[in-house]
Amino acid sequence: MHKVGFGYDIHRLEAGRRLVLGGVDIPHSAGLLGHSDGDALAHAVIDALLGAIGEGDIGTHFPDTDPRTEGARSTALLGTIMGLIRARGAEIVNVDAVIVAEEPKMGPHVPAMKAALAPILGIPGSSLGIKAKTNEGLGPVGEKWAIACYAVALLKLPD
Ligand code: MG
Repeated sequence: MHKVGFGYDIHRLEAGRRLVLGGVDIPHSAGLLGHSDGDALAHAVIDALLGAIGEGDIGTHFPDTDPRTEGARSTALLGTIMGLIRARGAEIVNVDAVIVAEEPKMGPHVPAMKAALAPILGIPGSSLGIKAKTNEGLGPVGEKWAIACYAVALLKLPD
């Protein structure tokens, strides 16, 4: 049986904070606020995976009140969720994601994001889509207050 999951996340940008997206440190004047490293792309992927197996969302598994995940690398959280996926006997068919950010330019960092995330997901790079768009200057993302990410995941589960 196959199941699809969908995830969305948005984090505020704060000047002087480290910017981490898709497990990659991206040089920029501002970074994403969050209890963890604020990696909205990893968070959207986590929610897509959890959605596909009907296991709540990232906040269910990693409450933002938990001191153990304060400042955590979100790729480590993704690895924990992959343990849950494997325990269900499931495997990922593919993941497709969109980053919506006005700046910096994300395109040059996409290969590094794929190299960081695909091994954690246990899929080849050809099964992981990451696209980068701007919000055409519109709304909080367009006005550079935040970065948003969307992801879908297709999982193959035991019948
Ligand atoms: Mg988040």
